[in-house]
Amino acid sequence: MTSQNPVHTLAGQTAIVTGGASGIGRATASLFARHGAAVVVADIDGEGASKIAAEIGAAGGRAVAVTADIASEAGCRHVVQTAVDAFGGLQVLFNNAGIIRRTTALNTSCDEWDRVMAVNVRSVFLMCKYAIPVMKDGGSIVNTGSGWGLKGGGNALSYCASKAAVVNMTRALAIDHADAGIRVNSINPGDTDTPMLREEARQLMEDWTAFNASTAERPMRRKGHPDEIAQAVLFLASPAASFITGAALVVDGGGLA
Ligand code: NAD
Repeated sequence: MTSQNPVHTLAGQTAIVTGGASGIGRATASLFARHGAAVVVADIDGEGASKIAAEIGAAGGRAVAVTADIASEAGCRHVVQTAVDAFGGLQVLFNNAGIIRRTTALNTSCDEWDRVMAVNVRSVFLMCKYAIPVMKDGGSIVNTGSGWGLKGGGNALSYCASKAAVVNMTRALAIDHADAGIRVNSINPGDTDTPMLREEARQLMEDWTAFNASTAERPMRRKGHPDEIAQAVLFLASPAASFITGAALVVDGGGLA
């Protein structure tokens, strides 16, 4: 597998992708591998992660799967250790796994609030806590925020809070670890065609056809494709973004514009 764009190469690098079994993570794991990275596909869905790692291997790339709940400290430690054991180090971390609860303050339970915060926010802290010490020659971290980390959205209180936290944690991490040669940026997608959208329609008890149509309400009149988000993640992870850190890159067909 060779790089399509020499500036975007990840040749010789090891990358972790959390939530790599589905949607944006799956597309990014595959794109990273096509650009030369050895990829650790981490997901709570171990079967799905193994399938993606096998697909990457069948296409000539290098990947291992790891089953982990990245809301737990042990899970995050295990993912980082897998990268070190399998590929001898780590240069790229894509903190992408996430969940959504389409509820307001009135119908969100404390357990649901805590779970969203643990999966979407604490995981970013814990993955960085264990990954940064093994990024011995510097590296690049990309965290998945959301348009709803930069503006509010309806019926998604815990999700909006969690994604705003991710955007600002990204800036704090960028400041703290610049001297170690580690860049940290967030990617902020608008509605993207992944299983998460169907899950949202299900939670809201909305008709899928109508919900799906509403995702096109933006200047470009369509939702995004996971590959389009992956291309932006690859850019931020690669040497092409060598002077970019602490940034929040919006990839949403003009939705926030
Ligand atoms: P997805 O549901 O297709 O994929 C999410 C993946 O994360 C799944 O494979 C799931 O098993 C995994 N995961 C969930 N909890 C986990 C845990 N505790 N430990 C490990 N893995 C876990 O969704 P997606 O749309 O690809 O979402 C990826 C990221 O993009 C999320 O952070 C999401 O909030 C964000 N995002 C998505 C959209 C969109 O429209 N799809 C928009 C903005 C932001």
